[in-house]
Amino acid sequence: MSSTTPMMRQYLEIKSQYPDAILFFRLGDFYEMFLEDAVTASRVLDITLTCRNKGAAEEIPLCGIPFHSSQPYIARLVENGYKVAVCEQVEDPKTAKGIVRREVVRVVSPGLVLDTESLKPKENNYLVALAEGDAGRYGVAVLDITTGEFRVTETAGLDGVRSELTALNPREVMVADGAEGTSLRQGLAAILAGRMVNLLPEWTFESDRAAGLLTDFFACGSLAAFGCAGLPGAVRAAGAILHYLQETQKYDLGHIRPLATYHTRDYMVLDETSRRNLELTATLHDGGKKGSLLGVLDRTVTAMGGRRLRQWINQPLVDVGRIQGRHQAVAEMVEKSLLRDELRAALDGVYDLERLNAKIAMASANAKDLAALRSSLMRLPALIDLLQGVEAPFLLELGSGIDPLLDVCELLCGAIVDDPPFVLREGGLIRDGYHDPLDELRLISRQGKGWIARLEQQEKERTGISTLKVRFNRVFGYYIEVTRSHLGKVPDDYQRRQTLANAERYITPALKEYEEKVLGAEERLVEIEYDLFQEVRQQTSRQGRRIQQVADALATLDVVFGLSELAHERNYVVPEMDDSGDLVLVEGRHPVIEAMSLSERFVANDVTLDTRENQILIITGPNMAGKSTFMRQIALVTLMAHMGSLVPARSARIGVVDRIFTRVGASDNLARGQSTFMVEMTEAANILNHATPRSLIVLDEIGRGTSTFDGISIAWSVAEYLHDNPAVAAKTLFATHYHELTDLALTRERVKNYNVAVKEWNDQIIFLRKIVKGGASHSYGIQVARLAGLPAAVIDRAREVLRNLESGEFEREGEPRLARSRRGKSSVPVPQLSLFDSESDEIRRRLDELDTAVLTPLEALNILDQLKKMV
Ligand code: ADP
Ligand code: MG
Repeated sequence: MSSTTPMMRQYLEIKSQYPDAILFFRLGDFYEMFLEDAVTASRVLDITLTCRNKGAAEEIPLCGIPFHSSQPYIARLVENGYKVAVCEQVEDPKTAKGIVRREVVRVVSPGLVLDTESLKPKENNYLVALAEGDAGRYGVAVLDITTGEFRVTETAGLDGVRSELTALNPREVMVADGAEGTSLRQGLAAILAGRMVNLLPEWTFESDRAAGLLTDFFACGSLAAFGCAGLPGAVRAAGAILHYLQETQKYDLGHIRPLATYHTRDYMVLDETSRRNLELTATLHDGGKKGSLLGVLDRTVTAMGGRRLRQWINQPLVDVGRIQGRHQAVAEMVEKSLLRDELRAALDGVYDLERLNAKIAMASANAKDLAALRSSLMRLPALIDLLQGVEAPFLLELGSGIDPLLDVCELLCGAIVDDPPFVLREGGLIRDGYHDPLDELRLISRQGKGWIARLEQQEKERTGISTLKVRFNRVFGYYIEVTRSHLGKVPDDYQRRQTLANAERYITPALKEYEEKVLGAEERLVEIEYDLFQEVRQQTSRQGRRIQQVADALATLDVVFGLSELAHERNYVVPEMDDSGDLVLVEGRHPVIEAMSLSERFVANDVTLDTRENQILIITGPNMAGKSTFMRQIALVTLMAHMGSLVPARSARIGVVDRIFTRVGASDNLARGQSTFMVEMTEAANILNHATPRSLIVLDEIGRGTSTFDGISIAWSVAEYLHDNPAVAAKTLFATHYHELTDLALTRERVKNYNVAVKEWNDQIIFLRKIVKGGASHSYGIQVARLAGLPAAVIDRAREVLRNLESGEFEREGEPRLARSRRGKSSVPVPQLSLFDSESDEIRRRLDELDTAVLTPLEALNILDQLKKMV
């Protein structure tokens, strides 16, 4: 390629180190892109593509953008799935000998966006690395460079990885190059789709190297400090992240928090499907927050609180004590509504301390950012004061953790002006009285300016030119302008500089003398201010850990106050939590649907689930009756209780649930574009393989993706399995429009039937939304079809066929046919069913063969005798 000029040689050499990124090559006030990068960037950014050496043999495509407004361009490229390597001039061009030294100082990729303008305030922007551990385990390391959060965990199997990825929703995922990465990418193909996947060299994942990198970076003796000493997958993944970070960010990374290991066993397990189905943080139909559980629960007033709430929803607790601690705190703030209002008011207006802190650490914060930090810190004393009035231990602990950061606040108050500008290179940042030499210079500059301002008046008087003006531009500096009609009165000491159409511009020696004073002082002012600003920023940065700790406490407080506000407004109650297997809700409501403005009032419903008598509830009822709503409501209420929220019910008693499974029937889940029966069965298999007696299972129309008979059969056997197998005997809600399944309750003691009440009126159905005991008598499909406007003839014929089908549902003996099994043992002995065996078939055959029309009374008696013997 062209290497004709030294600069081009430098470009190509740097570009060769970042082949997969678009190189932003700093040339003066521009970032230039060359060759293929230029072609790509001009297309994505919609900017003009030009050429170097136009017409010559080696034409070089080229495009550029101004350096001071590069952020939106970088953001756009990254959004479109590109990486951008930002290459700066790292020495002063004025003093450089030969070509200016240039280096890539930062690589921006989707997981490493620093420009918070292009990020959602209440969402983390995660970068994730995945690595294999021992015995089928996987390490998942996660970093948010904009907040400094750095965590790692290990999961058993790829399902666990999927669950974490769904919760974290990273934009960029890194795996090792080679076989390990290939198998991870294949196994996780569906969930990695749409995310940038980075292949890092295998050696970056190497265990010893990773361990060394981590202990070096955080300057600690061993991995034990992070709690991941025995977790090789976790260490490898975390090491790879740190490596990538150091490779791509040539800034201070002091804001990255010490690696924290978390354990999935400390949280309720929610598989990928259940997270989606329950619409925890995003709806199925458009992926938005509105309409999700988060959408309803989020009353936080700070970005930090918003992100923390998301985390609480994604990681519900399973420790009764910790859950109760949160409930107690929320409940107290529900009670103390006045204090809550004051506390929320104090928090409102606190800026995103985590992201501000990261910007400060990486030296990208401007004076406005420091002012935002200052105004946030100024709210702390009042907050601390208000928190004196709380009693819940959870709140007390949070309150005591808030450092008022008076020193930082004082520094910022003293140094930075009230309303500083965005730009750092034009002065106006530092407050008078902060730095004596600066104040002196300012005085000189101001006096000079005053002199110039007075000059206009003096000169008008001296020359008698009423229209004379003193002005400034960048080319001539200060000058005197005289319109054409007054040229005759211009004195001799005026030196002409420029002639315009109807005016002349002049300078005088005195004017230039003052100009030098003013401009010289201003130039120095700008420089001094910039240096002082950097000093203040660095000083603040040294207190980064303390700022992070405050941010942490505020985030959690914000979540608690928000949940209290919501509970107060919507009349939630404190759920009673225990270690039993029970789940009892009185007048429970669906948190999301009740919050939507519906034409009908939301009807509350009770439920009792336990492991003794009410393990499996079969819920029947016509389409649109409210089955799905009822079941989801129970799952959501359970989850809310575990995350620490109060719940929409009149009362609730909930034994801790280790995991919630949901399976939503094919047609209810079209949003994901996966309606295949296979998917449905895979999910069912997952449930049957992983459920425990402490789990909660929601099965909505399982088996719907196949033929009716197959569907009923599978649904039936799944329910039996959950009932009969003590290891998986989870509390189960099972909605179905196959009312045949209600017969299960005849043969299985912990199965109970419920249905959603409807009223028939004039051949119409009215939905009552009330869950009542017993199975639905029929499915009302035909009424629904009639409502939909099917012709009367079709409806009538359907009725006829239905009658035929229904009369064949039971055999003569009254046995629910579906319950029959070749292995007698799977049926519990119910007296009237145990009569039937193989002899009865023989008896039936004999009876069938008889022609009673030709039988004599004696023959009949003989046969009767034989039959009796057979019995
Ligand atoms: P199904 O699963 O039985 O077909 P859904 O649960 O989808 O029925 O409910 C259908 C609609 O009925 C829901 O969209 C909701 O608007 C309304 N609905 C359900 N349950 C209730 C209730 N308890 N109170 C008020 N409206 C309800
Ligand atoms: Mg439904």
